[in-house]
Order: sequence, then C-alpha cells, then structure tokens
Amino acid sequence: MRHVDHFITGTVPQGTGRTHKIWNPSTGQVQAEVKLGDKSVLDAAVAAAQAAQPAWAATNPQRRARVMFRYKELIEQNMQSLAELLASEHGKVVDDAKGDVQRGLEVVEFACGIPQVLKGEYTHGAGPGIDVYSMRQPLGIGAGITPFNFPAMIPLWMSAMAIAVGNAFILKPSERDPSVPVRLAELFVEAGGPEGILQVVHGDKEMVDAILDHEAIAAVSFVGSSDIAHYVYNRGVAAGKRVQAMGGAKNHGIVMPDADLDVTVNDLVGAAFGSAGERCMALPVVVPVGEDTAERLKEKLIPAIEKLRVGVSNDPEAQYGPVVTPEHKQRIENWIATAEKEGGEIVIDGRGFSLQGHEDGFFVGPTLIDRVTTDMESYKEEIFGPVLQMVRADNFEDAVRLPSEHQYGNGVAIFTRNGHAAREFANRVQVGMVGINVPIPVPVSYHSFGGWKRSGFGDHNQYGMDGMRFWTKVKTVTQRWPDGSATGENAFVIPTMG
Ligand code: NAD
Repeated sequence: MRHVDHFITGTVPQGTGRTHKIWNPSTGQVQAEVKLGDKSVLDAAVAAAQAAQPAWAATNPQRRARVMFRYKELIEQNMQSLAELLASEHGKVVDDAKGDVQRGLEVVEFACGIPQVLKGEYTHGAGPGIDVYSMRQPLGIGAGITPFNFPAMIPLWMSAMAIAVGNAFILKPSERDPSVPVRLAELFVEAGGPEGILQVVHGDKEMVDAILDHEAIAAVSFVGSSDIAHYVYNRGVAAGKRVQAMGGAKNHGIVMPDADLDVTVNDLVGAAFGSAGERCMALPVVVPVGEDTAERLKEKLIPAIEKLRVGVSNDPEAQYGPVVTPEHKQRIENWIATAEKEGGEIVIDGRGFSLQGHEDGFFVGPTLIDRVTTDMESYKEEIFGPVLQMVRADNFEDAVRLPSEHQYGNGVAIFTRNGHAAREFANRVQVGMVGINVPIPVPVSYHSFGGWKRSGFGDHNQYGMDGMRFWTKVKTVTQRWPDGSATGENAFVIPTMG
C-alpha cells in the first residue's frame, strides 16, 4: 500500500498514528493511505518555516521571481503526470485534471511578475523636507487549508502568491486527494525554492484546529464548504489571525428568451456536468425566463444530457468521471430522492448508474430535475454532483431576484443577446462573479476570485492584486532630511502638547 507522508523539512514526528484512505473512485478500490498529523507535526513545520522565512523575505523580489519562473517550467514539464495522479485520486477525467493544474499554473505565472506587483507608493515633498512611502512586507508564516475538488489549482492560488511576496507557506490539503499537493511542493524545491518555504502537512479537524490556534501562523486562507469556512473564519479571527474563507456555492444560469439556445445548451451541459458537478463554479441551477423559453430549452437539453458519456478518469472519450467517495455518491443520490419527494419532476434520473466493467466505481448518472421551487431544501442546499435543477422564472425581475436571494453568492451566468439586459443584470445581481454568455466565469489570474454571502468570509479575494494584499501588510514611512535652511511657514515645527 502506498503511503502519503507530510512534506516538511527536518525530522517528521509520528503524528496521530491515524491514517485516511485514498480511493481510486474509478475502480472503487483503496489505492493509498495518508498519514494524519497533529500539533507536533505542525510545530516541526513551523520551526522549519521560521528558520527559512527571514532569508527568503530578504531575497530581492526579482530573485524570488526567478524561482517562480523555474517552478512554472517544472509544472509545465510535469503536466501529464500531475494530471494522471490527480485524476486517479479525484476521479475527474485527465483533460479536466490538466485544466485544474493549468489554472493554478496561471497564478504561478502572475507571481512571476511579483517585482512589479509589489512596488509601493511614494509621495515626494509631503511637507518641508518630508517624503512619505508605503511598502508591503510579508506576514511571516501563512497557512492554506484546501478542498478535494481542485487539488492543484487551489493550493497554487494560495501558495504562489504567499511565497512570491516573501512568506513561508504551510499547506493542509484535503485528505481525500493529497498526492498532487505534495508533488507540487517537491517541484518547488526542485525549482530552487529554499527548504521550509513550502511545506505540506496532512490531517483532518485536529490539524485544522492546530493551525487556527498556532501563535506563529499569521494568516490562514481556507476554501471548502460554508459551515466549515465560517468556523475557520471565526476561530482564526478570534486567535488574532488574518483569515479569508471561501465556502460553498449554488450558481444559477439565467436563460433569457432571446438567448442562442444551441450555444447555451452546450455551455450549460458542460458547466453543470463537467467534473461530475464537483466544482464551486459549476452551474447546477438553470433559470429559463418565461414558459416558452423553458419548454424550448428543455426540448434541447434532454438529448444533450442523454448523450453525455460517463467513464473512468483515464478514458479519453469520457466527458466526466466518478465522484470522489462512496459517501459522496450516496449523498448526491439522497438529494435526488429529496428533490423528488419535494415535488421536483425527475426528467432524467442518474441514480443507480453502473458503468460496465467498473461496477464498483463511484459513478452517478447525469440528472435533470424540472419544476424546482425556491422553498425546496434541494434548491437551497449545495448538492455538488451531476445534477441540474430547473427553476422557471416568470420574468427578468425574478431572474435577478433568485440568485440574489440565495444563501450562496459565488458565481452566476446570464445567456442573452440583449446587451442592456446583461448590463442591468450584472449591475444588480448580489453575486461575486458574473458571466455574460460565459458559463463558468472564473476570473483570470490577474483579476481575483471570490464569492459573496455564505460563499466567502473575510475581506480579500484569492490571487491577483487582492491575493498580494492578503499576504502582505502595509508599512508607511514618513521621513525627513532637513538641512536647517527652512524658515517661516516652511520650517518644520515639532508639535507640542498643550
Ligand atoms: P470540506 O469543507 O469538507 O473540506 C475542506 C477542508 O476542510 C479540508 O482540508 C478538510 O480536511 C477540512 N475539514 C473538513 N472537515 C473539517 C472540520 N470539521 N473542521 C475543520 N476542518 C475540516 O470541503 P470539500 O468537500 O473538500 O470541498 C467541497 C466544498 O468546497 C464545496 O462546498 C465547494 O463548493 C467548496 N469549494 C468552494 C470554492 C470557492 O472558492 N468558493 C472552491 C472549491 C470548492
């Protein structure tokens, strides 16, 4: 049995002695085990980080950028093997796994420009002989806690930014697919990154709590489900840390009567079922505006969904693979049953799906549920599977209201040919990331990623300029170099009390 260990500098303590199994979701077999750490493992990682970070922070940004350039090249060279490893533990198909690595790589590319990004502000002559400048300094040691669904992209969102600005970073990836995060940390060292600057500790709640309570960790970035995001945010802030915590999602795709339905159906099917719906930017709710739009859309959606090919993660023809664990498969099927009980019309039922030759794999067939209403639990909660729910809206106002009133506010998309309606929608909708004829509006690496409401706790988004701000603190220096010649109103007078 393969064992996945912590990636820390120096001697690795024993930890809890507990392990967590890593499935191969395509076969339904356990393929490895990961060691679960505790505070002693974290203390060892923190000690190594403390030893390495001052020299890394003192390395000029251009030299740090050179390490990031080499890191980027190594990730590119290892793309295929990273994607295959990722697919085997997560279940997403290999092409999709490459997309996972690629989106993380783009943040590494952004981080290669860190000398430009970190330039501060300067005011010459703010007073007689006085100049003011602001600089951004690293926080020291940062930590990241990441979900199972993007085991390359999300660790890279956090680590690339945290490290490039001069911090040491400790990653606690999901215990369900931890191998790629470890491989990425190894590549950072191969790229010339100093030991102790990027480390990986594994664990569950015990390790998360140790991170949140550790005095030497200045900031925590979390991505995962909303209840845990909220918990992490509160506990981390109570311990005096800077915390950003991204949560769950239930993104709506609004289909206006004038939308190009062929293009829209293609986009919707990819966004709802790609990666088996296990994406925080998936589109699990479609909102046709008007009964006529709903009927026309449904007629085109059904054959497109029925054509989807579900397969093992290394099947090059498969459009999506299995879900991550048997428990998650059961949870998704339970939600379909709940939707049915609540009065939803199960148009295509993915329960009980079995893939020939891979009967033990964790597959769920594509599911379409019509006549879903806003009072249903299955609408209010995140299902996180290959399930598309249709909520029919009467008019544009309804279409703005539905995503705006939902507890989550991660992403939303509108499909229309009407520029005015699209502009109005983007302006008014209470959601953090909006797509106009773009089904999955994940911002490019030089913008930044973040949802509203229960999809995001804290003030800063991930990556881009906001990522730089999250991982640094501002210091402002007011300096005076008087030559003694200034008189009258130009003279510098030291303020006195009273
Ligand atoms: P999860 O919340 O179960 O786990 C996330 C992390 O929290 C993992 O590292 C896990 O070990 C840890 N954790 C789990 N239980 C914990 C507990 N009781 N106390 C402390 N820590 C705990 O999430 P997941 O199932 O791995 O990922 C899927 C979720 O992540 C979905 O809700 C999805 O929408 C969300 N997600 C959000 C974004 C975003 O940017 N908003 C991106 C990707 C995924």
